[in-house]
Amino acid sequence: MKKDIVIVGAGVIGMSLALSLSQRDKKVLILEKDIKKSHSINRIYSISNKSKNLFKEIEVWNELNSVNEIKNMVILYRSFEDKNNISFRSDLQKIGFIAQSSDITSVLYKKVMADKNIELIDKVNLKSIIERDENNYEIESSESDIYSGDYIFSCEGTNSFIKDQISINNLIKDYDSKAFVFNIQTEKSNNNSAYQIFLENGPIAFLPVSENEFSMVISVRNKFNDSNIYCKENLTQYLNQITNGSFGEIDILGEVINFNLFGYNSDSYKHKNIVFVGDSAHSVHPLAGMGLNLGLSDIIEIYKAFDLDIYKFGDHRFFDKYARKQKIINSQARQQLELIERFYSLENSLIKNLVGFGMSKINKNDFLKKNIVNHANQNLSLFN
Ligand SMILES: Cc1cc2nc3c(=O)[nH]c(=O)nc-3n(C[C@H](O)[C@H](O)[C@H](O)COP(=O)(O)OP(=O)(O)OC[C@H]3O[C@@H](n4cnc5c(N)ncnc54)[C@H](O)[C@@H]3O)c2cc1C
Repeated sequence: MKKDIVIVGAGVIGMSLALSLSQRDKKVLILEKDIKKSHSINRIYSISNKSKNLFKEIEVWNELNSVNEIKNMVILYRSFEDKNNISFRSDLQKIGFIAQSSDITSVLYKKVMADKNIELIDKVNLKSIIERDENNYEIESSESDIYSGDYIFSCEGTNSFIKDQISINNLIKDYDSKAFVFNIQTEKSNNNSAYQIFLENGPIAFLPVSENEFSMVISVRNKFNDSNIYCKENLTQYLNQITNGSFGEIDILGEVINFNLFGYNSDSYKHKNIVFVGDSAHSVHPLAGMGLNLGLSDIIEIYKAFDLDIYKFGDHRFFDKYARKQKIINSQARQQLELIERFYSLENSLIKNLVGFGMSKINKNDFLKKNIVNHANQNLSLFN
């Protein structure tokens, strides 16, 4: 089967990219290995203004039910009582939004299925990537069906089969840490405020899903990973201790998921007519909730390729600028997050005093705070 574009993976990135390319009048084929399994995962995403604008352009934003606007964001150092905090308010600058992945995937899926330019085939097992000619690959499934297009976009998430097949490697950064992800219900309202506290053990994010519910991401450096603390039975007590009762009684909702933390950036975002997008190309530390946002920035850059007058659509170099630019941007974003994580984890008392002093200075400076939030809302790009 031949289309203009073949997208492998119907996650948030694959489906958003398909809708965006359809707006450029391209015929798109999406190949997915297991849509039911993929869309049954429910994650909580923080969404930046830049990402919101993309969702608006592909007419998804206004159909989401779960969006919660963050009214305040507080960055804390070591303790909830600490006077040295930085507090961002949405009346100064829009901070961002919290949304549920199940809501986003279900709206995207409906749009994709209704779009005349897009065809989605589920339950496809890729068998091999075949070299059609010197600049083009095509895909063969285990049923021996051949899928080809002017371009193949890999939106396969973390474990890309295509990348393995054509031997593209990742530059991997092992954070030597574990992440614990779960939701909590709180007795007191969170007033739609997000919190990020930097402890010696690692950063903890509190993302307000609703007035009395937070999505939690606890990152713990392995040397501090104590199974007596980070288990479902004891986490409530630990959180009560950290928050100093700020949210009243805390209950853990559902399961506590944990996974090892590592970041990576692909050696190359493009090889011949294959282009890597989203988690297929990169992954960052979860401390700022940027993973999905960086992938959505990739889509914005891919869309821009059509406005460049350098190569014709069909030329294998058409997305070269995307590949070069996003590799740099995502690598810089990863480095920025690593720097923050490393800096805040230092235990030297001089550094601690410096951090405290710096934070109280920033907190008094609305101009600086506005710029920090703007930068986050541009998905950490230094190019804008
Ligand atoms: C617990 C957790 C919490 C997170 N929280 C946040 C957050 O708060 N904010 C944020 O911005 N990011 C967050 N992220 C990161 C975010 O989830 C990812 O960046 C995002 O899901 C990437 O989307 P994607 O479409 O690239 O990949 P995925 O969501 O992984 O989708 C890949 C799709 O491709 C399919 N697929 C894979 N291989 C093949 C194949 N060979 N053939 C056919 N189909 C294939 C899969 O079935 C799936 O449907 C979080 C990640 C985790 C793990």
